[in-house]
Amino acid sequence: MPNVLFDALFAPLACREDAFLILPDGSEITGAAFLATVSRQAHALRAAGLGAGDRIAVQIAKSPEALAVYGAAIALGAIFLPLNTAYTAEEIDYFLGNATPKVFLCDAAKRETLAPVAARHGANVLTLNADGTGSLSEAATGLPDSITPADCGPDDLAAFLYTSGTTGRSKGAMLTHRNLLSNAEVLVDLWQFTSDDVLLHALPIFHTHGLFVASNISLLTGGRMIFLPGFDLEQVLRLMPRATSMMGVPTFYTRLLEDARFTRDLAAHMRLFISGSAPLLSETHHQFEARTGHRILERYGMTETNMNTSNPYAGERRAGTVGFPLPGVELRVMADGAEVAPGEVGVIEVRGPNVFKGYWQMPEKTREELREDGWFITGDLGMIDPDGYVVIVGRAKDLVISGGFNIYPKEVELLLDEAPGVLESAVIGLPHPDFGEAVFAVLVAQKGAALDAGPALEAIRDRLARFKQPKAAVVVEALPRNTMGKVQKNLLRDQYRDWFK
Ligand code: ATP
Ligand code: MG
Repeated sequence: MPNVLFDALFAPLACREDAFLILPDGSEITGAAFLATVSRQAHALRAAGLGAGDRIAVQIAKSPEALAVYGAAIALGAIFLPLNTAYTAEEIDYFLGNATPKVFLCDAAKRETLAPVAARHGANVLTLNADGTGSLSEAATGLPDSITPADCGPDDLAAFLYTSGTTGRSKGAMLTHRNLLSNAEVLVDLWQFTSDDVLLHALPIFHTHGLFVASNISLLTGGRMIFLPGFDLEQVLRLMPRATSMMGVPTFYTRLLEDARFTRDLAAHMRLFISGSAPLLSETHHQFEARTGHRILERYGMTETNMNTSNPYAGERRAGTVGFPLPGVELRVMADGAEVAPGEVGVIEVRGPNVFKGYWQMPEKTREELREDGWFITGDLGMIDPDGYVVIVGRAKDLVISGGFNIYPKEVELLLDEAPGVLESAVIGLPHPDFGEAVFAVLVAQKGAALDAGPALEAIRDRLARFKQPKAAVVVEALPRNTMGKVQKNLLRDQYRDWFK
């Protein structure tokens, strides 16, 4: 019987006696051994009550065994629900209450705190620790190392992936077997991944980037992954010579550039560097090219859709853009209910086999954002440049409307970032008695630079219309970012809410 994702991603591992995962200590796990772990875990999870259509929520450290749980859930026709390892018990309470999983998997060290939370929502608790031990592995020991996967068609649900919560409460995006497989197939083709690829994998696997983009591509092509527990600069520098490709959030690339050991030689044999999840500054793109000769390939995606656009593999990778819609994905830019003229800014909408089925237990939110004819309103503002490249301008929720005028924070941020002594900036709108909202800038100084807000604002005076200029600014140590490197503007808006009152 067919199981769309299992058959495409996991079943082929059976005949792989070569390495599928390479670990930081140099040890390797063959494809067949990994699949045996998947099977044993699946039998253990079935014994714990997990069946087709049930949810399994996991909050576990990244490890080969943790990745295997994804395969085990798919094998059982269950819905895989990975959670950020940074979430607190209170946050876990929300997710378990929202998703009502049959099984909850956590680190043994958190069992005491989280077991009552899981019990409240009717979930069985099992443990899996960073080193692969725990009650799941104990239960799996000695169980059969092969499994007949549950029957799953393209429209069956494979995962609930919660959004990063950058703009508000995380929402559970319901993703089907077709959503995930169609996207992986397109990306393999576009980025030319083959079984010869060795992907340096330092991303978390509770997010679409590390779990679906990176892992699904490697599984689909029969490639290998150097599987790191997280982004550790020393490990990345040491292991890059064994890799052919890397996927990262922009901070991975800025951190590499800050280290003199990251040289043209070290990156010379690499085939591809990919960036996403947050905007890559043009400056980083150019510095990276100057240092290594490689042009980072930037793409754009989200939890609800996997990937939507990508810069080309062979053609010009244009800095400051996220490239073209992927084959099979339609993209349009809308304002006031109609498509905008080329070059104008509006809200990006996408439609295609990658677009999710809706938000779990949030019918209203789903109706607001997912049109009946399949178009998904991404909430991102963007435009299409004269050559068809998509440019992300920011999030609709971050748009500032001051005195009736629209101000796109990114336009102001790009200029501020060029001001002397400024490393980076975040521009937000704050409540203002006269203007409704006023433009406000939060600045971070370059290393070792003495930065005052006044001269930084002065530096952009002549370059920007008056109404777009920040009415005030502060200098801070660092911008608040979530684990995916995204600036949390809602926290800044809260913090400085009363500035103009
Ligand atoms: P929430 O929806 O809960 O507020 P989130 O949107 O940050 O959180 P994700 O689904 O992880 O959750 O992130 C998707 C968003 O990340 C996109 O909507 C977009 O704003 C941003 N993004 C992803 N890739 C890029 C990119 N290359 N450039 C700019 N922004 C990007
Ligand atoms: Mg979002």
